[in-house]
Amino acid sequence: MALSPQPTIERRRDQMFPDLDRVEIERVRRFGEVRCFADGEALLTAGQIGPGLIVILAGRVDITQHNQSGGRDLIVSHGPGQFMGELAQMAGRPALVDATAQEPVQALIIQPDRLRALFVAEADLGERIMRALILRRVGLLETGAGGPIIVGWAENGDVLRLESFLSRNGHPHQLLNPDTDAEAKALIERFHVDPGQLPIVLCPGGQLLRNPGEDELARCVGLVGPIDPDRVYDVAVVGAGPAGLATAVYAASEGLSVLVLDCRSFGGQAGASARIENYLGFPTGITGIALMARAYNQAQKFGAEMAIPDEVNGLNVADESGHFVLQLHDGERVTTRSVVIASGARYRRLGVTNLDSFEASSVHYWASPLEAKLCANQEVALVGAGNSAGQAAVYLAGQGAKVKMIVRGADLGATMSRYLVDRIESHANIEVVTRAAVSGLEGRDGFLEAVRWRHVTGEELRQPLRHLFLFIGAEPNTNWLAGSGIALDPKGFVLTGEDAGGDRHPLETTWRGVFAIGDVRAKSIKRVAAAVGEGAQVVAALHSFLAETAANSAMAPNSLATTPSAPIQSR
Ligand SMILES: Cc1cc2nc3c(=O)[nH]c(=O)nc-3n(C[C@H](O)[C@H](O)[C@H](O)COP(=O)(O)OP(=O)(O)OC[C@H]3O[C@@H](n4cnc5c(N)ncnc54)[C@H](O)[C@@H]3O)c2cc1C
Repeated sequence: MALSPQPTIERRRDQMFPDLDRVEIERVRRFGEVRCFADGEALLTAGQIGPGLIVILAGRVDITQHNQSGGRDLIVSHGPGQFMGELAQMAGRPALVDATAQEPVQALIIQPDRLRALFVAEADLGERIMRALILRRVGLLETGAGGPIIVGWAENGDVLRLESFLSRNGHPHQLLNPDTDAEAKALIERFHVDPGQLPIVLCPGGQLLRNPGEDELARCVGLVGPIDPDRVYDVAVVGAGPAGLATAVYAASEGLSVLVLDCRSFGGQAGASARIENYLGFPTGITGIALMARAYNQAQKFGAEMAIPDEVNGLNVADESGHFVLQLHDGERVTTRSVVIASGARYRRLGVTNLDSFEASSVHYWASPLEAKLCANQEVALVGAGNSAGQAAVYLAGQGAKVKMIVRGADLGATMSRYLVDRIESHANIEVVTRAAVSGLEGRDGFLEAVRWRHVTGEELRQPLRHLFLFIGAEPNTNWLAGSGIALDPKGFVLTGEDAGGDRHPLETTWRGVFAIGDVRAKSIKRVAAAVGEGAQVVAALHSFLAETAANSAMAPNSLATTPSAPIQSR
């Protein structure tokens, strides 16, 4: 979903808005039902959940979006053989645009579950439709149309937090500067907002939020909805990084009902990678967010449900049914026959006393286009000597920043892949300071003004800087398992296989039916490919476990947690 100088709607209009011929319409007809709309009637309203994919059989429909002056801009006009919809329709989420009949319209409505059936049964047509839905979302992301409007200053920590949240979730949005945008000034006056209360967010449905949390914003724009408390899923996956998304793709495509939960966004750590160059099949590299967005859409195409952002706070066994229950931070519950722990790892923080006072605005744990824009033509400090640090340094330098890398070791070669070391050496605007560690941060009102670092010799240096990037490793996200009885190693990673009990499947934890994959698993290889591989591998174990428990449904619930059981056969 990288931005391009020439808008996607111009470069790829034919793929974005393909025509279905008569034969193709007959092929998709069995997946939908015909409805009629009067001249002037709304087929879709921005902010409201639409009926699904809409194929026009007769008549004409205008797709429009609200502009900042309160009017409407025409995106495209659809006629017979064309279809309306974008990714929101595939997942049953609120529409991002308006669609209005310009004359009496007859249309075929294909609901989200039938659309997924179409993708599977009609692969070639499904590919064209899926590509169009993705490109239309890319087009909306480029203009920010259809999403919420944030009013605030780009360098403000809360603006950065909200923008980063929406970008990471592939949701369009616009940012208006309260000093320079007339529309921003009008909104501030209309809602009587004091400058100290900024940022505000205007949602497509018209609701105004004052400096909202991510959860509040997500619910307002319809990214996440309530979870059905009576539904029992075959598998609940905690974490939508590469491991969790791979599980979702393979499990859902093999017919299991899957719910994926993530407390932040899809993509996990991989989504923060400026460029992944060692993932099989992408010889020119790919940004982490682009790779993960593909996986996220693919999982939904096969019917995996997403609850993002939704944080899991606890895991236990429900009752005599033996089902597992995940407790969510907002009091909701998820009931499931099996669980895959794919909660990965989170960045490690620097041991400097006043770090938290600069974390909103000046200290960054990702190097995405948002941060690059903030740091353009400035000197920044970057701490870390692993591959993630190397990627970030190269990316920021490529975007015009002068990067001072502060590393503890004598050289980068011991901890970083050779290709990155070579690239850093060839960059004139990356300086590597070895055998040094950050010793202090200085600044005011949440904004960093200078960084101090100390060499092994004891000498301390200081440099005025506005931005500090930290890539100093990660710790497992296993706090939410506290009290569950799932065994962890001394560093907090989840034990699986032989380490969890003699008869366990290699990816199974001390609880039967609860599996752990990816970075959160003790002894795992901390790479995207390894996480994806384990995500695929665990699905065979899930099938065996579910078949076994179905055949033995009288099994007492406590025995799931404590009693040694028969070895699990892989399919
Ligand atoms: C900047 C950076 C660059 C990298 N570059 C590369 C590279 O080029 N090549 C490579 O092979 N590897 C790279 N890696 C490593 C790679 O990204 C990880 O190995 C991989 O992402 C691990 O995947 P995962 O799914 O196991 O966990 P993660 O990616 O950590 O995903 C875990 C997910 O679980 C969610 N979560 C955690 N706790 C909860 C909870 N309680 N409730 C709900 N959700 C929860 C998190 O929000 C997160 O989205 C990089 C890592 C970073 C940080």
